[in-house]
Formats: sequence, structure tokens, C-alpha cells
Amino acid sequence: MKLLIKGGRVVDPANDIDAVMDVLIEDGIISAVQVNILDREGTVIDAAGKIVCPGFIDMHVHLREPGFEYKEDIATGTRAAAVGGFTTVCCMPNTNPVIDNAAVATFVRERAAKAGVVNVLPIGCISKAQAGHELTEMADLVAAGCVAVSDDGNPVSDASLMRNALDYAKMFELPVLSHCEERSLTKNGQMHEGYFSILYGLKGIPAAAEELMVGRDIKLAEMTDAHVHICHASTRGSMELIREAKSRGLKVTAEVTPHHLVLTDEIVGDYDADTKVNPPLRSEEHLAALLQGLLDGTVDCIATDHAPHHLESKDCEYDLAAFGISGLETAAAVVMDGLVNTGWLDLVRMVELFTIGPADVLGIDKGTLDVGTDADITILDPELTKVVNPAEFYSKGKNTPF
Ligand SMILES: [Zn+2]
Repeated sequence: MKLLIKGGRVVDPANDIDAVMDVLIEDGIISAVQVNILDREGTVIDAAGKIVCPGFIDMHVHLREPGFEYKEDIATGTRAAAVGGFTTVCCMPNTNPVIDNAAVATFVRERAAKAGVVNVLPIGCISKAQAGHELTEMADLVAAGCVAVSDDGNPVSDASLMRNALDYAKMFELPVLSHCEERSLTKNGQMHEGYFSILYGLKGIPAAAEELMVGRDIKLAEMTDAHVHICHASTRGSMELIREAKSRGLKVTAEVTPHHLVLTDEIVGDYDADTKVNPPLRSEEHLAALLQGLLDGTVDCIATDHAPHHLESKDCEYDLAAFGISGLETAAAVVMDGLVNTGWLDLVRMVELFTIGPADVLGIDKGTLDVGTDADITILDPELTKVVNPAEFYSKGKNTPF
């Protein structure tokens, strides 16, 4: 079967392509990327005025299945991903049971093959039951298709366990994705600690709670010569630490979320629980530092930290509400509208942050329009204007501040 995507602005940062071209696909594989391909045997998609790029990858998604299907499942979460322009998602292991052994990883992959509509790459746990005491059998997790390990949702508080995790993961060239949070500083915290937390009377979560662990993990990456990836980096101090680590050639990478790039803690004043997220929305100063990190390469990729919740855990008092934002269906538009259309970020860099950026972090053969690779392609319509309506989300999680 042939498919020709005709006349779009092809943006493929990995191959330094930004030009009006055609993309020919045969049996699901990219067979040519050229100017004016004449082959019209199959279906033709007119992409004039559109942006044609490698399929977007979201390396930080909570699909919630198994165990929390009332929040999201693989069928709804992958449809939300497709609508948002993502062709590959990595799913975090804080399910029930958690993905801490090959059987659960295999279950997720088989479910995804049956019910999913995009590629689903599972992430295995660092520690058994995510309890932070004993390492998982990473060799088994890798054999079952896991592309990284993480205890996301929980930090790995024991530095010695983290050191061993890095040593072990290094044997498989597996990135260790770290949720950086010093829990003794964030207990009962509701929002970023600063001027607005005092004004709104909510307990703060200081930037230092994240930075302490970013600093620790960089030291451990240096000790072990292993790859640590900082999840949802949100502070100026984190950016400084990661930038410095990279300048010394350490294997340290980082992601930021769309919401941390465009929203600040000031909006928490509405006490709308859909603004409650961990790490919290930060102040202007931190947001500016994240933007700088996007521009200078300190940040490797944008990831949503898609965290769908049931209405009950958000439709309540701020202190009682769950942390998290349903992000898959708004991510590309939020970055495009908030950063590209306003001139902060170049479109090519945006595509890089959603494609080859995460693919390189994970070491997977995705994120390009290379001839011979899977035809995972995202087409963006830069003229499309839409009002965000969570009731129309494919995701079961309607929790969005946008
Ligand atoms: Zn996290």
C-alpha cells in the first residue's frame, strides 16, 4: 500500500531538512523524502500549508493501566496521544501492579498491541514495588521491552540504591529517569514556595527540594559514568546544575513539561485544582530559566507528564486534590501557541524537542524521516484555532488548566 504526503513543509531536524517536499510511504515504511514525487499510485494527502514532521514522542506518560482504568486506560490514553500528535509514548510504571517484572511489562505491551493506536514503550521500575529498598531485575525488564527505568511518582530517596541502580542500568545502556524530590522538604506542600504561596495561604514546595536531588543524581552519574535523565525539571537551579554537568561531558539529560513552560504559580490564586501538579507551577524567574534551557540545549526534550485523574480527585479543596495535568491533547498546541507563535522558540527546535530529542535520550530508532524507518509522521496545521474543551478529550482525564 502506498501513501503520498504532498506539498507540506517538511521539518526533520535530525536530517537538517526544512523545505517544501513530499513524503512517500510504502507498506508503513518511509520510501522517499523528495521534492515533487510523481508517484500517485496510492492515496494522496494534500499537506499544502501544513508542517510534516517525524512522529512526536512523549517519553513521560501515565497510561494508568493496569489498575487505575477509572483514570485512563491504554485504549483512551493512546487515542489522546494520537489526537495530540504523538506516535510514540513511554508509559510510567506506577500502575497496579507496578511494572517491576517482565510479566507486567509484557502485559502492557500486549494490551497496547491490541487496544492501543500508537507505539507504547514501557518503562520499568527502579525498585521492587517502587518501595525504594531493593532493585528490580533490570535484565528481565529490558528483555521484556522496557526502554528505561524509573520510580516516577516517587523519588529514589536512598542515594546508595540510586548508585546501584545506575551501575546496573549502565550494563544495558538504560537511562535512569529520576523524579527529583527531597520529600522531607515537600511534605504537605501544595504549590511553589514563594510570594504567591504566602499570599494564597498554601503550604509551599521549595525549588531546593528538586535541586538537592538533581545535584545528588548528577554526582552519582559522575561516580558511575551512567546515564541519569531528570524528569520534569522545573527550576532555575536545576537548569544550572544540568548545564554544568553537560559542560563536563556527563551523561545527564533532561525534560521539561509544556505546563512549566507557559504557566506560573500566580494562577493558583483561583484555587482551581487543575493547576495542582508536581513539581508545582513555578514563578516567572524559573519559567525564564527553562526557556533559556530549551534554547541552549540544556533541555533535551519536552515531555507531558500526562497524569489523568478522575473528576473526584480534582473537584475538591485544593489541599485534598491529586497532583497532575492531563497533557497529551494540548502539549503541541500549548508549545506552538505559547512559544513558537510568540517568537520565543524556533519551529525547527520545537520539532527537535518532540522528536529526535527524546529518541536520543532513549536510544531508540525513532524521531526522524529516514528512508527505511517506520512511517511515524505528525502533520501540524499551523492555522488551526481551537478552544480547549476537556469534555471533548479522548483521555478520561479532563484535568487541564488550559
Ligand atoms: Zn514525576
